[in-house]
Amino acid sequence: MLIRYFDNAATTKIKEEVLKEMFPYLTEEYGNASSIYKIGRNSKRAIEESRKRVASLFNCEPSEIYFTSCGSESDNMALKGLAYIQKEKNTGKNHIITSKIEHPAILESCKALEKQGFEVTYLDVDEEGFINLNTLENAIKESTFLISIMFANNEIGTIEPIEEISKIAKKHNITFHTDAVQATGNIEIDVKKLGIDMLSMSGHKIYAPKGIGAIYIDKNIEINRFLDGGHQEKNKRAGTENVAEIVGLGKACEIAEKNLKTYQEKLTNLREYFFKKIKENFKDIKINGSLTKRLPGNCNICFKNIDSNELLFKLDEKGICASGGSACSSGDNSISHVLTAIGVPSELANGVLRITFGDFNSKDDVDYLITSLKKIILER
Ligand SMILES: *Cc1c(COP(=O)(O)O)cnc(C)c1O
Repeated sequence: MLIRYFDNAATTKIKEEVLKEMFPYLTEEYGNASSIYKIGRNSKRAIEESRKRVASLFNCEPSEIYFTSCGSESDNMALKGLAYIQKEKNTGKNHIITSKIEHPAILESCKALEKQGFEVTYLDVDEEGFINLNTLENAIKESTFLISIMFANNEIGTIEPIEEISKIAKKHNITFHTDAVQATGNIEIDVKKLGIDMLSMSGHKIYAPKGIGAIYIDKNIEINRFLDGGHQEKNKRAGTENVAEIVGLGKACEIAEKNLKTYQEKLTNLREYFFKKIKENFKDIKINGSLTKRLPGNCNICFKNIDSNELLFKLDEKGICASGGSACSSGDNSISHVLTAIGVPSELANGVLRITFGDFNSKDDVDYLITSLKKIILER
């Protein structure tokens, strides 16, 4: 059966060109990037080329990009790295502001820091998933050292007012981190123009492999490393470099930068076509998230009187891969913390379907999806 994949927010298929550039570094070019002989230097050079490509996507300096193992690691590094240096330097600052709809990599890092004596404010969001800028500014204390707000939400696609948040952070001399794992490759991100101090991204959400990520850290920001060992990544992150995947990430970033406009247009068209068809064919639905400030490929819908897991199971029988929210919370039957935060009542939240389009999707896929949803939901 043909697989129709609509879960690109969970992960993406590796692009052929990405794999092709990686291949030599999984075979002949196996040198350790810290070694002085030729195949070692080749690895080193490949890493630095890749760093330039990643930096170019975010308009920062290559020296401000550090490779990690995933988006979660980048999030941990940003929050813990900045928190630990407050303690070490006795800055007297111990307060973090974030939101209730962050990815678990942020929320759980915050919980871990709370156990170590840090204080965290979790901002509410409105019914579309936006944080309130006045509430944010009012939450700032003398002791606040970090604001971490995601660029775009992985479940409902809402894009937060990043530039306004960064202005508030600047005004109060607070570091601003954003989890841009979903936004990367989908929205233009110029960290200098937007005033972002730290940014997390991940390879497998942009057609590179799983197990590679990066973090941008502005050159004026100092963090403590939390993975101790060798001097890799300018002493910020120990461990022999994952050369092949770093090369893959660089290639994926290069493609993302080159194709951004057409990619956005393609995904937005698929999304709007899908929403139109959904509204034509179904009553008793709720579309979650902002309809305007939204990730191009994100659709999040609640159906009344249907159980999300049952729906996903029946879609799977038709070769359709979709999700009920985030990949991280599937498996447990609890209602999504994001849907709870935007005030979706449980009878609707139980029938949630997240469709996230990617580069390999076509209009034909959407038609098949709509036909399948009609069969499953309307002909019950
Ligand atoms: C997927 C995701 C992450 C985690 O990235 P991994 O590379 O899977 O660890 C973090 N934040 C957001 C918003 C995500 O969508």
